[in-house]
Amino acid sequence: MSLQSTDKKYIANTYNRFPVSIVSGKGSVVKDENGKEYIDLGSGIGVTSFGIADEVWQNAITEQISKVQHMSNLYYTEPCVRLAEILCKRSGMKKVFFSNSGAEANECAIKIARKYASDKYGKDRFTIITLNNSFHGRTLTTLSATGQEHYHELFTPLTPGFISVDAGDLDAIKEIHKETPVAGVLIECIQGEGGVLPVDSAFIKDLNDWCNENDVLFMVDEVQTGNGRTGELYAYMNYGVSPDVVSTAKGLAGGLPLGAVLIGEKAQNVLGFGDHGSTFGGNPVCCAAAVSIIERIDFALLSDVKEKSKAVFEALKGAVGVESVCGLGLMIGIKTVRPAADVVKEAMENGVLCLTAKDKVRLLPALNIPKETLLAAVEIIKTACANM
Ligand SMILES: *Cc1c(COP(=O)(O)O)cnc(C)c1O
Repeated sequence: MSLQSTDKKYIANTYNRFPVSIVSGKGSVVKDENGKEYIDLGSGIGVTSFGIADEVWQNAITEQISKVQHMSNLYYTEPCVRLAEILCKRSGMKKVFFSNSGAEANECAIKIARKYASDKYGKDRFTIITLNNSFHGRTLTTLSATGQEHYHELFTPLTPGFISVDAGDLDAIKEIHKETPVAGVLIECIQGEGGVLPVDSAFIKDLNDWCNENDVLFMVDEVQTGNGRTGELYAYMNYGVSPDVVSTAKGLAGGLPLGAVLIGEKAQNVLGFGDHGSTFGGNPVCCAAAVSIIERIDFALLSDVKEKSKAVFEALKGAVGVESVCGLGLMIGIKTVRPAADVVKEAMENGVLCLTAKDKVRLLPALNIPKETLLAAVEIIKTACANM
């Protein structure tokens, strides 16, 4: 049986895959089973920060895996300590909890907000505000946090205590807080799965101020926007705000599963012994990989991300079949005249892998993709957009 039919037989039906099997790659070019090459503008949904089989990343992993691959959190290991130190020094946050995924990072953030509020204000203050059109994960609680009804329908009853409001509607949050005390607010600065939609920067700032004034934890979901994606180490850094809690995952370890919650001064001691944990969280191989990624997301790399972003926006300006372009850094959404899925399919036939997000074509290339490679792929997407 072919790989694809065996997959269909034995793997749960949750993914509608393209009829392509990727067997190898290098940097931003991947190869399928027939030897056809593609420029990869999806990066495994913003995961392979430095592309496929990056050598610095590979060396970090092989060095660690030959020493110790896992020890449990009962003992000290070096990579997670080093990574936590780097993340805190780069962000000004005070402590880190490591998880394996974005959803688990958000679960931890939610637990921190609940415990912070109940420690200080009692059991009634547990409500978490999120935004409509957000995405925070697939576990039942992060699904409950996700402000999109269609994700909820099949899985009720959901975890209680989440209310979502429209992005920009600070008045709605103030009203809710009068009736139902709010423990925390969780937002994406750019709603990735929601269509690469930037949230208004004045709202982000005002929300941060309101949270500070009301001792409500201001939490930013940086699972997709984090780790250099937007041209800053974390997207919130574009807005001059100071979150109390930041969750991240996707690109953090460049292709190994790792999530992290960065905790600011206010909430740094909320979690105590036994309050939270994860068997695999902070795995030394994943953390060694992440150190090799984060150490390279320096000023020069971030400037390069911004410059390549500008070049993509310029290349798409006024293009036939392109209605608008949105996003920040190398997180770019293209509103196309044709259905986005048709553009993605045609681009794939012509050797470019990209994603959709709602009604947009979504680009999340590796941060180190060569500019020429990126622009060559954008030309192929432009041709597909124009082919109405
Ligand atoms: C992908 C994503 C998640 C979920 O991450 P997983 O690693 O799939 O659990 C959560 N929040 C945002 C913003 C995401 O983009």
